[in-house]
Amino acid sequence: MTSTPVRTRIAPSPTGDPHVGTAYMALFNWVFARHHGGQFVLRIEDTDQARSTAESEQAIYDALNWLGLDWDEGPNVGGDHGPYRQSERKSTYQTHVQQLLDDGNAFYCFCTKERLDAVRAEQQASKQTTRYDGHCCHLEANEVARRRADGEAHVVRMRVPEAGECTFTDRLRGDITIPFSQIDMQVLVKADGMPTYHLAVVVDDHLMGISHILRGEEWLNSVPKHKLLYEYFGWPMPKLIHLPLLRNPDQSKLSKRKNPTSVTYYRDMGYLPEALTNYLSMMGWSMPNEAEIFSRQEMVEAFDIDRMTTGGPIFDQTKLSWLNGQYLRRLDASEYAQRVQDWMLNADKLAQLVPLVQERAERLSDLLPLVNYLMGNLGELTEEDFSHKSLQRPEVLAILHHTLSAFDDMRQWQREDLFTLCQQLAGAMELKFRDFLFPLFIATSGRAVSLPLFDSWMFLGADLSRARLRGALDALGASNKERKRLDKAYQALLPLSSGH
Ligand code: GLU
Repeated sequence: MTSTPVRTRIAPSPTGDPHVGTAYMALFNWVFARHHGGQFVLRIEDTDQARSTAESEQAIYDALNWLGLDWDEGPNVGGDHGPYRQSERKSTYQTHVQQLLDDGNAFYCFCTKERLDAVRAEQQASKQTTRYDGHCCHLEANEVARRRADGEAHVVRMRVPEAGECTFTDRLRGDITIPFSQIDMQVLVKADGMPTYHLAVVVDDHLMGISHILRGEEWLNSVPKHKLLYEYFGWPMPKLIHLPLLRNPDQSKLSKRKNPTSVTYYRDMGYLPEALTNYLSMMGWSMPNEAEIFSRQEMVEAFDIDRMTTGGPIFDQTKLSWLNGQYLRRLDASEYAQRVQDWMLNADKLAQLVPLVQERAERLSDLLPLVNYLMGNLGELTEEDFSHKSLQRPEVLAILHHTLSAFDDMRQWQREDLFTLCQQLAGAMELKFRDFLFPLFIATSGRAVSLPLFDSWMFLGADLSRARLRGALDALGASNKERKRLDKAYQALLPLSSGH
């Protein structure tokens, strides 16, 4: 046991689908807290008001609940350190930024976007680190007061020493040193008065009594800014544990472009939550006895941070499916039946399907053949399946590729947006709408005549729909060269205006 109470947290942003990366962070924070008899806090980072949505916040709760990772404090359960939504903590950030300004550790900056762009371009041209050049750093107090009184747009930036370096310790990597010359005078408060992540994360982690920060390694470079802020406030910094990022099988950072990344996808495909958490446990960690199949509780008991590695773990669906199969075989028949019911054979899911099939069925038994592609994987598709009277292979590839690219860029998954998007793409590609939709029907349902395409996509959700289009491109044997060319062609079609 450590002497201070162990308190960990995750701080996901409620934008888009709940990501497996969030589940991964949640798992390790949860295990770490439970192992040490501490608490696990859920904080919602919704300072980006334009992108944050209530549905996305709810989807985070649903995903964590499904995975069985319970939190002790959070927006929906309360706690002594609330509010737990950053959008509700504005006055706290204001008080703290005022303190930094009063102490001379932060300053008002009036630089325009044009000026900042020009500075960046110059720095890039002379191969320097791109960062704020300190233009407003030493403005006289009366000038600042006058310009603020005149209503001139401004942000607040933190001061960064001109010389020297910052050394901090990451529990998995040891001491890391970064010269201050590489650290930007970070914006702490945006022109709209909202705090940036860097201010909010420091203030919240301190006020919420967080003892250990376990988060993704992409934040390592931000630590010097955070450490300075802790010093300016005179607060001790929590211990840092930066976990390796999950990777696609080709070693690139796990991304929805290449892999389904939403927890919802794995739930809807019929993975068991305990298999998914078991699999995520093995991303950078292993049991002392090297067991591959173990429960969350066994992990909590055996957890030892020294068994973590920093090499990028590969999130491989084939391996996950194997593991899931092992879990399925261990269920007794009644439990198995219960899981199938929880998954999709239940009244709620049927209620979503009935409106789609009622008009089309002649017997109740027509239900399954009509909806099977919505409930399970498609069989293997072949190039033959895509043959069409007026579309040639290059057009078919382009339709699938461009629609997939546009799906990747979508922030919300709404029927009308999907429809408009397809209309725009068909228009931009000078194809008849009907013809344009044909390969998408095949890719999604495996057949040319199926339930309405847009309803199917809504039922499947973004990740599963994307997976179908990716599968079709693979079935057609799209080569890397073809894909590169298609990327360029898609860029040339932009911008598409709706749903982005
Ligand atoms: N919102 C950030 C993220 O989800 C939080 C990073 C952190 O844990 O400090 O990546």
